[in-house]
Amino acid sequence: MKINARVELESIYSALDNEVNSHNNECNACGSCCDFGKFDHILFTSIPEVEYVIDSVVIPENGFVAGQCPFHDGKTCSIHKYRTLGCRVFYCNQGYKKDCAPDIYEKYYRMIKDLAFRYEIDWEYKPFLESISDFLIKGKLK
Ligand code: SF4
Ligand code: SF4
Repeated sequence: MKINARVELESIYSALDNEVNSHNNECNACGSCCDFGKFDHILFTSIPEVEYVIDSVVIPENGFVAGQCPFHDGKTCSIHKYRTLGCRVFYCNQGYKKDCAPDIYEKYYRMIKDLAFRYEIDWEYKPFLESISDFLIKGKLK
């Protein structure tokens, strides 16, 4: 990922974090929402989000458990600083989830899509685990 695109994505994530934090969502960091199988949840991500993760951390090649995020380390996220849009927006607080999260997600999703367009990053939107698996098998995202 080009350095300018990376800096811009970090700026988008920073604005997003501020907006999400203004909602005072209570989270006891139980980690359940990162256990996709048990939580019945699929985390969708775009190429810029996944590229940012891949460029920043070592992807664990072993211990890939179906339905679980490979970065789910006990109850914590081992890539917290680099986590994706969906990870940043999601909170299980029902009021926030229903009334606020969809609009916030859409707003920042559009910003990331615009960034991808301007930096000529391929656009694909699919499950995070699928993208990470593809990368481990093919050494690239597409
Ligand atoms: S958002 Fe909810 S499910 Fe996810 S870690 Fe926080 S309390 Fe647990
Ligand atoms: S990247 Fe981190 S926050 Fe996102 S699903 Fe995985 S462990 Fe959870």
